Amino acid sequence: MPNWKDQQVLIVGGGIGGLAAALALSRQGIAAQVIEQAAEFKEIGAGIQLGPNVFWMFAVLGLIEPITALAVFPNNLIMMDSVTGEEVTRIPLGDTFRKKFHHPYALIHRADLHKVLLEACRSSDLIRLDAAQKVVKVEETGDGIAVQTESGKEYRGAALIGADGLWSTIRQVVVGDGKPNVAGHITYRAVLPTSEMPEQYRWRDMVLWAGEKVHLVHYPLRTGELFNLVAVFHSDRYQEGWDSFGDPAELHERFAKTCAPVRTLLNKIESWRMWVLCDRPPIKNWSRGRITLLGDAAHPMLQYMAQGANMSIEDAVCLANKVVDMQGDYLAAFQAYQQTRYLRTGRVQIMARVYGEFFHASGVAKELRNMMLGSRTPEDAMAGMEWLYGQQPELTRVAAAAVVS
Ligand SMILES: Cc1cc2nc3c(=O)[nH]c(=O)nc-3n(C[C@H](O)[C@H](O)[C@H](O)COP(=O)(O)OP(=O)(O)OC[C@H]3O[C@@H](n4cnc5c(N)ncnc54)[C@H](O)[C@@H]3O)c2cc1C
Repeated sequence: MPNWKDQQVLIVGGGIGGLAAALALSRQGIAAQVIEQAAEFKEIGAGIQLGPNVFWMFAVLGLIEPITALAVFPNNLIMMDSVTGEEVTRIPLGDTFRKKFHHPYALIHRADLHKVLLEACRSSDLIRLDAAQKVVKVEETGDGIAVQTESGKEYRGAALIGADGLWSTIRQVVVGDGKPNVAGHITYRAVLPTSEMPEQYRWRDMVLWAGEKVHLVHYPLRTGELFNLVAVFHSDRYQEGWDSFGDPAELHERFAKTCAPVRTLLNKIESWRMWVLCDRPPIKNWSRGRITLLGDAAHPMLQYMAQGANMSIEDAVCLANKVVDMQGDYLAAFQAYQQTRYLRTGRVQIMARVYGEFFHASGVAKELRNMMLGSRTPEDAMAGMEWLYGQQPELTRVAAAAVVS
């Protein structure tokens, strides 16, 4: 009698979410085929912040050790006022924080996080990884799924997960809601060797300089060898697109009203990569039959809560649990998965927009922000983070059926 777990699940997209999904399924004994359009499995970009919530997932996936070896553990989350140069608030990330959330807050290079997932996938006999295959067609075949790639290759599986990011092709099959919203916010990102970072700003902290329609973030990466710099400003000059070179003249114009430290830091970078930020409003149904979505394909969000990748890894663990709970009934499992996830991911999508307003406030809104955040104790701040960073019993349990099988 063939085991349902041997019938592979197809995963479109080998980014952080797609690889995490393959790994989470394999940890439950389920075979997966990842199909990636890029010529190789690789991440570009710069830093990623990891909340304690994703460390719960790393524990389930057996990744705490390799992640810890590559991450930086900052001392504080700090918000500065980028006009006055004064500190608005700081949340210490030491023992009290770790004790409350059981796990640390960390900073990691995106390529390192991707590499850890990729190596874990490569060491599993249950995962097959194909690059240079762009999925262009999806068909439900009654008891399974067939997909075709641009090069004419066909894959068959018991079910399909669209982990194909913000511009997801699979989302158009499942939801059909067209292009994402262009937020009117632009991000410039750069990575600087620590030797080039002015000494007085080499803080082992996650620092956000909040300004009027702008903000700048910096934090250390790769055990302190590098600094990650992210500059964000409002602009309606760009419609869509990502990862092209930015225009430093526009950046300096937008940051003209910021204090000297911020301008000093911006001047350190000659070559910025640019992202045009997009999101979508939350939805509650991102599954159709044997097809579901995960990560940015399901719930793309602005990066202001630093949770997009974290959420995609949570999705992966949740989805694998549900598939095992439902013993390979993918229709039921995908419904249960999205039912468990949509309010949490929707909350992060909505709160990310609110945070963006807060970071970029001016006038009375800015005064109010500084007053509210400035008067908080670290305990108040941590109480407000409980919903996000605290343990999610639904995610950290070992799926009941997995224990039996
Ligand atoms: C400036 C910025 C800062 C951020 N900071 C953070 C942070 O600090 N913390 C955090 O958690 N998140 C952060 N994020 C969000 C995070 O980067 C994303 O949420 C995350 O990368 C989403 O992963 P994903 O696997 O869902 O999608 P993606 O990373 O977009 O991966 C999708 C993959 O699918 C492939 N693909 C697409 N179409 C096809 C197709 N038709 N066939 C085959 N393959 C296909 C793509 O090539 C890609 O490899 C940030 C985002 C930005 C823009």
